[in-house]
Amino acid sequence: MSAKLISGTEIREEILAEIDAEVKEIKAKHGVVPGLATILVGESPASISYVTLKIQTAHRLGFKEIQDNQSDDISTEDLLKLIDQYNNDDSIHGILVQLPLPDQIDEKKILNAIDPDKDVDGFHPVNVGRLMIGGSEVKFPPCTPAGIQEMIIRAGVETSGAEVVVVGRSNIVGKPIANMMFQKGEGANSTVTVVHTRTKDLAGHCKRADILIVAAGVPGLVKPEWIKPGACVIDVGVNRIGEKISEKTGKKIAILSGDVDFDAAKEIAGSITPVPGGVGPMTITMLMKNTLKSLKFKLGII
Ligand code: NAP
Repeated sequence: MSAKLISGTEIREEILAEIDAEVKEIKAKHGVVPGLATILVGESPASISYVTLKIQTAHRLGFKEIQDNQSDDISTEDLLKLIDQYNNDDSIHGILVQLPLPDQIDEKKILNAIDPDKDVDGFHPVNVGRLMIGGSEVKFPPCTPAGIQEMIIRAGVETSGAEVVVVGRSNIVGKPIANMMFQKGEGANSTVTVVHTRTKDLAGHCKRADILIVAAGVPGLVKPEWIKPGACVIDVGVNRIGEKISEKTGKKIAILSGDVDFDAAKEIAGSITPVPGGVGPMTITMLMKNTLKSLKFKLGII
């Protein structure tokens, strides 16, 4: 393998250790810890497993953590009341509503009801606006793009003046990471192109990228010949391409693949993220970082 492997699992541990140290310091000085409330509606196994992982990580870091489970027939009004309760709870600094929500719920209304200063997912329109303005306006960058940028910085990849190509224009990955990479600041100052299903000559754009960020959800979309030799390749895609029996647990687990043909790409790229073990572990890590940040804003120490 010629490319340097950018391991999200390793970077996660570095960041969690930093958060852990800060939480202890703040607790000793100010007598408070970050508080995270997660609201889980219904019993979707995928949502349960995401929320459980978030709560376990918060617990490991010494946060106050609440997993608020609600039945899937809850009304929009009752969910709004619950959000109001956490908006007014001084011990809670981050509120997260696990998506997707059942059909009867007005998802937009729910997300917009979260106090933007507790919106650690960064999806509230106020935080999307803050992200667009950039610089010191940014409070909570959305977690997956923030994780991508952090990986690029910690891998020592030069972003200033770099050609960045983002494949995908979703609200949760493509648009925010594109916006973050062209801002002034650390891990940014890049020249950004965003490509999507209507783009002519996808390959031609990708070939120009010093940093190629792929978030399409199409296994093997990016071919090795689309990669500029020495480029940094960040594969955000998580695609279930089959099932296997886990050697550890004996249970059925999904076989995951990214959007990039990893085995061939690693022979051309300068650095590359694997799937799994790349961007995936970074999302929850950045959620923890945002929750700690929220407490620090409240204490006036940032
Ligand atoms: P999404 O909302 O489905 O958006 C996919 C984007 O990719 C769209 O903008 C789409 O273009 C574009 N696209 C799809 N096929 C394409 C093609 N053949 N050529 C060019 N562009 C194409 O997906 P998402 O939510 O951003 O997620 C993308 C991937 O990242 C998924 O695999 C998801 O599981 C993964 N993901 C991982 C994490 C994590 O690791 N923590 C977090 C979030 C997402 P159009 O707009 O033209 O349709």
